[in-house]
Order: sequence, then structure tokens, then C-alpha cells
Amino acid sequence: MKIAIVANHAKKSQDVAKELKEKLALAGFDLDCQVPSVVITVGGDGTLLSAFHQYSHLLERVRFIGVHTGHLGFYTDWRDYEIDLLIKSLTEEKRQRVSYPLLEVTLEYSDEQPTKTLIALNEATIRNIERTMVADVYIKDECFEKYRGDGLSVSTPTGSTAYSKSLGGAVINPKLKAIQMNEIASINNLVYRSLGSPLIIAQDEWIRIDLKREDHYQLHLDHFVESQVNLVSVTFKLSKKEIHFASYRHTQFWRRVNDAFIGKIEYKDE
Ligand code: NAP
Repeated sequence: MKIAIVANHAKKSQDVAKELKEKLALAGFDLDCQVPSVVITVGGDGTLLSAFHQYSHLLERVRFIGVHTGHLGFYTDWRDYEIDLLIKSLTEEKRQRVSYPLLEVTLEYSDEQPTKTLIALNEATIRNIERTMVADVYIKDECFEKYRGDGLSVSTPTGSTAYSKSLGGAVINPKLKAIQMNEIASINNLVYRSLGSPLIIAQDEWIRIDLKREDHYQLHLDHFVESQVNLVSVTFKLSKKEIHFASYRHTQFWRRVNDAFIGKIEYKDE
């Protein structure tokens, strides 16, 4: 088993990564950051997002493991003080994995720029950075609505607890193969009308956004931002690829949601 370690810059994460490397080497594992079969991240969910993009060309062979140096996250199952237990699990493991959906984003341009296909773990968001974004929104090949507002964001089920949630989206169990579109500050009045609520599409559907203005747009893909010129349409669908996590320790999804957003509440009237 070849293992790569990706840590964020925080001192605690660097210390944990150093300890992990030393203990993995002692336990006889190969450390290989070129073609690993297991990628261990040390930091937070943001660190796992970075590692995902770093190894997105190897998704079929890689299983990810997240070690958190703060609180338990959505992509992290291990705490920093559990390194010995993690190595023991790696030694005894039977290559179990759990897989979650990814988002495929296709960008088309009015000039000679080639069509681009990208992949996101959390979400992709398109915004007009100059003025209101005006777009026709298609579901499959049928025009669904005419959108006018700041932008549109499409997320994966695992991304539903990130930016999507801040936009009022539903939290989706990542066992469901679906993607969710959220509006960002849409204009809804007597002249312009869009659904105004989050929309979840099925596995065999896709969303195409035809941009009606030749403006500069911004594409946010997970933690990346890219300016877009001459962009005319963006298509979102479930990717055929998935992200795999090593599953010998995998926190139940709703427990994570409870830990992250609700926690222990003492109700005064009980
Ligand atoms: P960042 O500051 O690195 O991350 C923002 C926060 O989002 C961090 O607390 C991170 O957790 C958390 N996070 C990341 N993925 C998550 C997930 N799937 N479920 C729940 N929380 C998650 O921001 P960034 O590098 O610019 O962007 C990374 C992600 O942050 C984006 O994909 C987006 O979803 C999210 N974001 C959210 C908002 C918002 O809600 N208004 C704004 C910008 C970005 P850790 O602390 O564990 O790393």
C-alpha cells in the first residue's frame, strides 16, 4: 500500500503529519506522493478538498482518509490523537471503501476556447461579476426558467453541508446520487420569476445554464475561483467518477450533521 500525506500549514497539522510519516515508515508502509493508493489528509475539510484536486487524476485507485486537527468534519473521520489506532486499522484493513458522488461541470465558450470539463467535490458556482446574471435554465433539454440574480450554485450531496447550506439548500445524505441547485439572491417580482427554492435533480438529469449576457463571469469550483470570458453555457451533472474513502472508520452522516450544526442543547422547559 502506497500512502501520501497532505497537511495544511498549521503547526499542529505539520506536527501530526511528521508523526504520521515516522510511524507509517516504522510500520513498513511506502510513502509515495506520486501514485498513492491511500491519501491521508491532516487538517480540516478544506485540506481534504485540496488533496482531492491534487489527486483527481487518480480517483479510481485512491482512497482518502481525513485526520482532523480541529473538530470532526464532513470529510474527516479521525482525530489527531488517534494516529496509532489509524495505523493499526491500516495494517489490519481489507481495502473496504465507501464512495460518494461528484459533480461534473462543462463550460462552453463563444470563441475558439475549447470546451472545458471540470470536477467538483463540494460545489460549482457561476456568478456575473459585473452586473445581474441573466440566464435560461434548462433541465435536460427543456427550458425550466429564466433566472435573474447574482448567480447559481450546484452542489454534491457531501457539498450540501458547505456553501449550499448557507444558501438555504437542503442537507442531502451522500448515499443519494443527486445534485442540488441553489439560487443566489434571485430577483423575483412581477417581471422576473424563477423557482426561488433549492432544486434537486435525479441521477439521469442534468442542468444547463445558458448565459444571456456577454459579460465577465466568475466560476467558483470548491476552493478555486477562475474568471471566465466569452462563457456562454455551463452544464452540471453527476460525474461518472466518485470519491472513495477508506471505510473502516466512517462516521454516520446524520451524526456528523448533528455534531456540526446542532450539538448538545439544553432545553430550559424540559
Ligand atoms: P474555507 O475557508 O477553506 O472553508 C470554509 C469552511 O467550510 C471551513 O470551515 C471548512 O471546514 C468548511 N467546509 C468545507 N467543505 C465542507 C463540507 N463539505 N461540509 C461542511 N463544511 C465544509 O473556504 P474556501 O477554501 O474558500 O472554500 C472551500 C469550501 O468552503 C467551498 O467549497 C464552500 O463550500 C465553502 N464556503 C462556504 C461559504 C459559505 O458558507 N458562505 C463561503 C465560502 C466557501 P474546515 O474548517 O474543516 O476546513
